[in-house]
Amino acid sequence: MVSDCVHCGFCLTTCPTYVLWGEEMDSPRGRIHLIGQGVSGEPLTDSMVTHFDRCLGCMACVTACPSGVRYDRLIEDTRAQVERRHSRSARERAVRAAIFALFPYPRRLRLLRGPLRAYQRSGLQKLVARTGLLDRLAPTLATLESLAPRLRGVPRPPARVRARGERRAVVGMLTGCVQGAFFPDVNSATVRVLAAEGCDVLIPPSQGCCGALSVHNGRRAEAQRFARRLIDTFARTGMDYFVVNAAGCGSSLKEYDELLADDPAYARRAADFTAKVRDLSELLAELGPVAPRHPLPMTVAYHDACHLGHAQGIRAQPRALLRGIPGLELRPIADPEICCGSAGVWNVLNPGPAAELGDRKAKAVLATGAELLVTANPGCLMQVAAAVHRRGGTIALAHTAHVLDASIRGLPPATLTSAR
Ligand code: SF4
Ligand code: SF4
Repeated sequence: MVSDCVHCGFCLTTCPTYVLWGEEMDSPRGRIHLIGQGVSGEPLTDSMVTHFDRCLGCMACVTACPSGVRYDRLIEDTRAQVERRHSRSARERAVRAAIFALFPYPRRLRLLRGPLRAYQRSGLQKLVARTGLLDRLAPTLATLESLAPRLRGVPRPPARVRARGERRAVVGMLTGCVQGAFFPDVNSATVRVLAAEGCDVLIPPSQGCCGALSVHNGRRAEAQRFARRLIDTFARTGMDYFVVNAAGCGSSLKEYDELLADDPAYARRAADFTAKVRDLSELLAELGPVAPRHPLPMTVAYHDACHLGHAQGIRAQPRALLRGIPGLELRPIADPEICCGSAGVWNVLNPGPAAELGDRKAKAVLATGAELLVTANPGCLMQVAAAVHRRGGTIALAHTAHVLDASIRGLPPATLTSAR
């Protein structure tokens, strides 16, 4: 509730937009004040919508708040209101329509990879007009394409992969939209790690989007449709857990019970589904390791994805898993609570400030001197990689699953530092 906020300001220094601009209305406290005005009947002005739109939804303020203000719920409800009641410009509507017609659809994303590669190589990138859709979407998609491994040689995982050794659990797995289309090697590594740790892994090929992007942008009805479909896809599979390796998706999946609470046909099923959702690192920590780890003598900087650290409170588990690898040295990144500026599609909608936040994070990452940056969200990997590149630096990138997979398989560190 808005009234839970006691205006103490403890959240201000963790808020990336307040850090950038120092404006009260671009802080959590300021936005809560504006939300309160809306609740008391004030009309939704363009200026209010701008301050809400500028929020990354990183949830650093939820972590920082000593009064337990559920800013995540406040901003989600507000965004739904904005979508219902606010009329956006034609250009904004077009950008948003393009984003939501593309990103939640893995097949459409996969189809785009070939043309994107051609776009990058042709030099067209430099000729793209300064306004319109392409200058917003194309650079992001082109970054995805440049960072993603080639699809050749990464076959789609089978619908069921058996546990190695004694079976300890049956897990359903989300392949994701961006993850599935641009980082299929993360999914392959995840499947191998789970199987090595005694899990049967179920990966129905028909699964679609989890709805995270929609729900984080106020498109609740669309998110509910995606959620119902995913629940149906995994119904009667007999899974003990549902595993997610993308932080943004995981935080939304853990709220399916709230998302579908008013749907009599799905409320109970959504609650059962939610109870089974685990981030990959969370499940592995819960099960405990059985697969032997081989040494990986290398330095690693671990970046907390906001939707893993702030939204799910998962910080210790990935670090414990990485520290469990002999020879691996973990180095801390300064100001870990500040978002890298990726935040779903926020960097597409706000390219200027997103680049500033990316530059700050890249500077902190490079200062660690680590050989490898590890995180658990495809958006963060791309955002930090692009910023490191802009600064003329170099650092290899990997998902937690890649590192565990390399250690379990006894691969050398060079597999991680040269492959990406
Ligand atoms: S969610 Fe992040 S960007 Fe939004 S108000 Fe909270 S700290 Fe600031
Ligand atoms: S949201 Fe929490 S931390 Fe921020 S001003 Fe309000 S009570 Fe204080």
